[in-house]
Parts: sequence; C-alpha cells; structure tokens
Amino acid sequence: MHTIKIKPGREKSALHRHPWLFSGAIAPYTQEPDAGETVRVLDHDGRFLGWAAWSPSSQIRLRFWSFDEAEQIDAAFFAARLARAIQARRSLAAAGNAARLVHGESDGLPGLVVDQYGEVLVIQFLSAGIERWRSAIVDALMSQTGAAAAFERSDADVRELEGLAPRVGLLAGKLPARVDIEEYDIRYRVDIEAGQKTGFYLDQRANRRRIGELVGGFAEGADVLNCFCYTGGFSLAALKGGAKSVLSVDSSADALVAAKLNASLNDIDASRAEWVEADAFQYLRKLRDMGRQFDLIILDPPKFAPTASHVERAARAYKDINLWGLKLLKPGGLLATFTCSGGMSADLFQKIIAGSAWDAHAEAQIIERFTPDLDHPVSLNFPEGDYLKGLLLRKVA
Ligand code: SAH
Repeated sequence: MHTIKIKPGREKSALHRHPWLFSGAIAPYTQEPDAGETVRVLDHDGRFLGWAAWSPSSQIRLRFWSFDEAEQIDAAFFAARLARAIQARRSLAAAGNAARLVHGESDGLPGLVVDQYGEVLVIQFLSAGIERWRSAIVDALMSQTGAAAAFERSDADVRELEGLAPRVGLLAGKLPARVDIEEYDIRYRVDIEAGQKTGFYLDQRANRRRIGELVGGFAEGADVLNCFCYTGGFSLAALKGGAKSVLSVDSSADALVAAKLNASLNDIDASRAEWVEADAFQYLRKLRDMGRQFDLIILDPPKFAPTASHVERAARAYKDINLWGLKLLKPGGLLATFTCSGGMSADLFQKIIAGSAWDAHAEAQIIERFTPDLDHPVSLNFPEGDYLKGLLLRKVA
C-alpha cells in the first residue's frame, strides 16, 4: 500500500469530501503506485485525508473511495456501496423496468455506471480505480439484482484519458435475444451492444413523460418537432400523449431505424410520425424555408461542451439551435430545450437561451425547469455531476 501526500494548502477539496484530486495537488513521491491501486492519502502534515484510487495517466490523479480511515477498500466495501445505490432506486419501480443503478461519483463509486434494462445490466468501467475491481463488482451486481446477464460497454472516450483501451462484451450470464424495456406505458427496444452510451438515455425518463402530458394540454392537438430524437424517446411520448403530428430529426441513420421500430412496438398510428435523417443545424433552417410551424419543440442535443474548455464553441451551437427553435414555434407554443454538457452551468445556459430569444425577436417565459430523473442523483460534494439541465419556455409572441 502506497501513501501519497498532498501539497501544502491543497487538501481543502478532500476535506470537503470532493471525490477528485488533480495531478497538480500531489506532492513529490518516491514510488509510483500501480494504475488503479488504492492509496492512503495524507495532507502535507501527515494527517489522514482518505483512501483513493491512483490514475497515473489522468489529470484527475486521485479518486476517493472513502474519507473514513477505518474503512477497508475490499470486495465487501464495493458490495455495500452497490447495495446502497440499488436500494435507492426502489422508488422508481412504478416507472418501468429500466433504471440507472449506479451513477458514478454521485453514488460514491467514481468511474462506475450501471444501467439495468429489464433482465440485463449494462456496465461502464471508466476509471483505472474501478477497472481493478471489475470482477468483484460484476459478481456483486449479478447476485444483488438477480439479472440474467451483464454486458460491458466500456467504450466511452473518457477511458482513453485513464490510459484504458475500450472494451465491449459479455461479462456474465446469457443475453436474451432482445432487450425490451417499459417506461411508463411505452415500450422501447434497447440496442445494448451498439446503441449510444449504454443503449438508452434513462436520465430523460421523467421529462419524456412530462412532454406526453404537455402535449395533452393542446386542445386542438399539437404539431411537435423533436430534434436530436435518437431512438424516438420524446417522439413516442408525444405520440402517445395525443400529438397531431410529430416530426423527428436525427443525424444517425441507425438511431432512426431503431426509432421507427420502437414506434411499431407501441400502438401508435404511424401516419402521425415523420422521421428525417439530417443535420439539425441545417434542417432547422430548411423548416423555416418550408414555412413549417410547431406547437411544441424539443431540442435535446448531444453534449456540445464536455468540459469547461469547450464552452465558448458550445454556446454558439446552443444559441443557434434555440434561435431557430423559437422562430419555428407558434405564438403560445412550448420549447423544451436541454443541455447535457457538464461544462455548461444552468446560469450560462439560461443566458444563452435569452440571447437566442433576442435574436429571434421572440418574447418567451420560463415556465418549468427540467432535471434528470431520480436515478441520476447529484452528490452535493460533486457539483460536476450536475450535467443535465433543461428549460421549458412558452413563446408569448
Ligand atoms: N432525446 C433522446 C436522446 C438524444 S441524444 C432520448 O430521449 O433518447 C442526442 C442525439 O443527437 C443522438 O441521437 C445523436 O445521433 C444526435 N445528433 C448528434 N449531432 C446531431 C446533429 N448535428 N444533427 C442531428 N442529430 C444529431
């Protein structure tokens, strides 16, 4: 077991139980710990700060497992953390059979993401520390959930920063022929092997449901535009909610194939749905040229600003799509607009949208704010985990 000391004055974040320490805070050491090894972390005066995993290639050099000196970081520790996280998802059972069971740092398990889709667990090991405990974690998850299979999707870009190669494949059990989930009254097929991320965006569950409700509020029936539709999440919610028409746009042909299949799994009149493969930035302008107008528009783009350094370029992208979204909205219409960029604060996002409204010569009000659903908590000690924010705007004029 190696001991790592922190430079003088750099212990504050650890004392506040922030789970990360950056390379610049580490005092010189004589022996380099192994990748992912648990180390004892001390402040410069030798006082205990916590137990953390060593990430030699990442700027985030240490990720804390625990700030309790008495705690042992072993298989039982991980089993207990997993049990705590799984227990906290029980209240979501009524929402269907899919949930994020483990949400990384915010569940006290830095680098670990676990999504349950019915009988199947999809797991991402995203840091050198969690990588070391891979088999203990899979064993604990299989026994605690009774799942039929666990599948690994450790193919996210962040692994590269950790010096880890991507890895995809079966971890345990046997995969069913297909993975179908129920979310409230809607069925979706999830492509766990090749879909984006772990296959589905569970974080938007409550917001999809809310869109279904909002559509019902238009007495004459709503014309809906869903940009960045992926496998049709918001589109199906709007169709089920009684929309008159739903136009869905995504640049991924695979996503649209999956979206159409999802529509067919539900009792939905296909003539109300139109699916378009296009770049949303261009297509929004085209819709203007065609004179199309909508009652409800959803903009849920990919993260344009993965970190704070991308914020400026991202700001231009958000401003652009929201400008066009507001232009395409009928007076009295609703815009549900999201950012899932960790580097974009709620405050800045709201300012950008205000800029969009200004440039679109639109007057708009915020009538609701969106957050991720209950299974995507944000630890108070880890504000970086607050990635998904959304605004519901009403265009007054
Ligand atoms: N709202 C969806 C998730 C959206 S994920 C849900 O509830 O499931 C973001 C989507 O944006 C992805 O499907 C991706 O293929 C798509 N995308 C990325 N860049 C795009 C672009 N320039 N134009 C259109 N779609 C794009």
